Amino acid sequence: MTSFPELGEAAQRFVARRGKLLINGAWVDALSGKTFDAIDPASEAVIKTLAEAGPEDVDLAVKAARQAFEDSAWSRMRPVERERLINKLADLIERNTDELGELESIDNGKLQFLAKVVDVHGAVDSFRYMAGWATKIEGRTLDVSCGFPGEEYQAFTLRQPVGVVGQIIPWNFPIAMAAWKLGPALATGCTVVLKPAEETSLTALRLGELIIEAGFPPGVVNIITGFGEVAGAAIVAHPDVDKIAFTGSTVVGKLIGRQVVDTMKRVTLELGGKSPVIVFADADIDQAIAGAANAIFFNQGQVCTAGSRLYVHASIFDKVVAGVAAIAKSLKIGAGSAPDSQLGPLVSQVQMERVLGYIAKGVAEGGQVVTGGKRHGNTGFFVEPTVFTNVGADATIVREEIFGPVLVATPFSSEDEIVAVANNTDYGLGASVWTSNLGTAHRMARRIKAGTVWVNNHMSVDPNLPFGGMKQSGYGRENGRDIIEHYTEIKSVLIKIQ
Ligand code: ADP
Ligand code: MG
Repeated sequence: MTSFPELGEAAQRFVARRGKLLINGAWVDALSGKTFDAIDPASEAVIKTLAEAGPEDVDLAVKAARQAFEDSAWSRMRPVERERLINKLADLIERNTDELGELESIDNGKLQFLAKVVDVHGAVDSFRYMAGWATKIEGRTLDVSCGFPGEEYQAFTLRQPVGVVGQIIPWNFPIAMAAWKLGPALATGCTVVLKPAEETSLTALRLGELIIEAGFPPGVVNIITGFGEVAGAAIVAHPDVDKIAFTGSTVVGKLIGRQVVDTMKRVTLELGGKSPVIVFADADIDQAIAGAANAIFFNQGQVCTAGSRLYVHASIFDKVVAGVAAIAKSLKIGAGSAPDSQLGPLVSQVQMERVLGYIAKGVAEGGQVVTGGKRHGNTGFFVEPTVFTNVGADATIVREEIFGPVLVATPFSSEDEIVAVANNTDYGLGASVWTSNLGTAHRMARRIKAGTVWVNNHMSVDPNLPFGGMKQSGYGRENGRDIIEHYTEIKSVLIKIQ
């Protein structure tokens, strides 16, 4: 196998180990013996061979998770001990930041320094925040009027873990999304079968090793690598899984939403977006230009809340578009591991072709390319940061999520007009408003239909801040108190006092 000089020693050792599945606390091959490869999207080299799980492996993982949920050291563990274990895991992740960041960068293509600061640290923060919830779960006592006159009742609710959770993770922020999903599951006492995206399995596997090192009992977290249509679908279909937590494309989210009804699984879906960035004439223009560029080019545009529709007040449209295009042109394209890279490759050949296909469609539908528009180089899945203007409201690149560094800029002239235009989308995940007027900021925050509205910033997330989508961007919220509710069931208890 190729050696990877961009990886430190620990990461080198990790990629040299053959990838296995984590089932019931042990690392095992797929029962079929099948494997697939993790690819470096910058060089197209094979990084590591991974086990390709089938339905029979998923079944073993679900059985282990069920056993751990119903009758194990985990199911008997005091909340304060769960908190301690989650915090220990956070400490281990933090201690291994460099290794995890290097693995994330080579596997996904993202910039290595951002992988460490944003992805790995985001995962650490998320686990630490969720650890605190383990000891803060509560039901209510309720006054009731039931029964016959003279009878007395005591009523209360218990909030209990939902059970075995199937967690299906996307490839754009692999370790951070795994943390967003695992944290609330572990805090509430659930058990998990987690499947990373086939494009990016490395950090989930390393996380599995750290989960064992932290001391979680066997079966609490099982990690299955493999393909969505096979291993993912088997998790979704499995009758003994109580809940599916999914982050990914709207197409697959809808498929899962339909399937879970058969077994009445609980479900949370965090799906696509087509988030508007709205710049008013009174905005700090330099800040808005830098913010708009970052909103679409950060992580190569592979962000569900990417600011892919830029709307600028007509009076400053040319200036803002020229500013964003100048930033796009200046970005140094290169491997995520190169210290001077500012834009990495897309995650896979499929994704690169998808994005180039959208660019071609934008041109065919009459859009004007201000900058970019092409593949960069012949090796690696690099696409130039691209800015379009003159695109009609019904054009494909305005309506569909591209998940790449492709921006569509359009002028507007009034607040009422831009509210209608911004909300004219199937999606409702995020939006940002750039203005120095407090009234505009508050009115827009109320009028935009999106799970998150940012003012004078775009894309920041926090473990305490609910995150999720309205409309076709999904069901439920992640983070904060809200996610705890999605990982627990309410049970009413009614006691007749006698
Ligand atoms: P993309 O189209 O960019 O690959 P997906 O929504 O397909 O995005 O992938 C997100 C996650 O969903 C991945 O972990 C993938 O393996 C998984 N997945 C894809 N198809 C299915 C499916 N039919 N059932 C369950 N999981 C799936
Ligand atoms: Mg897919």
